[in-house]
Amino acid sequence: MENSKKSKGTVCVQEGWKPQKGEPRVLPIYQSTTFKYDTSDQMADLFDLKASGYFYTRLQNPTNDYVAEKIKELEGGVAAMLTSSGQAANFYSIFNICSAGDHFVSTSTIYGGTYNLFAVTMKKLGIEVTFVDQDAPSEEIEKAFRPNTKAVFGESIANPGMNVLDIAKFADIAHKHGVPLIVDNTFPTPINCNPFEWGADIVTHSTTKYMDGHATSVGGAIVDSGNFDWDKYADKYPGLTTPDESYHGLIYTKAFGKGAFIVKATAQLMRDLGSIQAPMNAFLLNLGLETLHLRMERHCSNAQKVAEFLQSRPEVAWVHYPGLKGDKYYELARKYMPKGTCGVMTFGLKGGRDKSVKFMDSLGVVAIVTHVADARTCVLHPASHTHRQLSDQQLIEAGVAPDLIRLSVGIEDPEDIIADIAQALEKAVK
Ligand SMILES: *Cc1c(COP(=O)(O)O)cnc(C)c1O
Repeated sequence: MENSKKSKGTVCVQEGWKPQKGEPRVLPIYQSTTFKYDTSDQMADLFDLKASGYFYTRLQNPTNDYVAEKIKELEGGVAAMLTSSGQAANFYSIFNICSAGDHFVSTSTIYGGTYNLFAVTMKKLGIEVTFVDQDAPSEEIEKAFRPNTKAVFGESIANPGMNVLDIAKFADIAHKHGVPLIVDNTFPTPINCNPFEWGADIVTHSTTKYMDGHATSVGGAIVDSGNFDWDKYADKYPGLTTPDESYHGLIYTKAFGKGAFIVKATAQLMRDLGSIQAPMNAFLLNLGLETLHLRMERHCSNAQKVAEFLQSRPEVAWVHYPGLKGDKYYELARKYMPKGTCGVMTFGLKGGRDKSVKFMDSLGVVAIVTHVADARTCVLHPASHTHRQLSDQQLIEAGVAPDLIRLSVGIEDPEDIIADIAQALEKAVK
């Protein structure tokens, strides 16, 4: 069994920490900032990246690395690292290969926090982004490329637009222009979608969502497929292919081969920016991962029932869920995530904003929280919460319908979720 490829459920439960004789059965929390060595030379070799080992938790910690190993196996990659948040994972994935004066392409319907990171904060660093319509024909999307374009970014399922990315199409476009495709795979998780199988080169996660799954810990992860040939485009990626003077002239692709991207992100970005995940959070994340395969199945079957229920109700104007037949993204979801998508959907009520507020205030089992993708069913009304300063017209321009309710279906018994939504719908239209 050791050398054969394990199925995902077994990876969820057993990969990462593998205790030897007499060691703890459960992944230990290495709650230590630092690590001891016997000689000065041993420590010096670590600082030169000549030997691998732990020396300071701002760069690496064993608890984190065991959990990253499990996520790497689930995605089918060659190297992975944890970060303190999904925001840090997406920032590092771009900043590891883009510097001031560079450019990248991103789909426009991405998570709001990522949109702001790309459009505002990266711009302040001198890195420009062009947003593209993910459903546009390839020729249209290709017009966004420039000589200094270094990456393409998209979300496998967009939060909260619920758009499913045509991963193979985007991988073809990226590779035709000699750049990697980075996919944020937070919503379907590797249980339901493996972007590497469709040509993506780097995968990122907000582990805060389904991977942790219990809303206990903010965290992120980056996984490298090892497939992008940085040396083939050496002039575009000097950070990976030319000497790093801060490590005595070491060249990442020469010294670390397929591990180059993750080693560089650890050795430079963690060293200088320090977005490490706390070992305690990595431990909680690992507990979540042990049941990810079971929870995703239940999230998807519950969400399918709830989406079909909403669609059948006269009070409901529209429902977006890629698992629904007739949804704009149904076919893409069947192709890239045949076992199911995720538990999140959006819908609107006839009568608009006021009805949405009354509906939400009438819920009991379903809670109002700023979160998605954990065990408990929850809702958010962007027009009243995250986007409340905007007028109805501005909301529409921002791609958030005034009546849009984002529902994240949890793993409770589906009858209770549906009964709660049914009674709240009745109260809302009274
Ligand atoms: C939440 C989220 C993020 C940001 O992750 P944090 O862990 O909150 O920093 C990034 N991408 C997607 C798709 C998300 O849903």
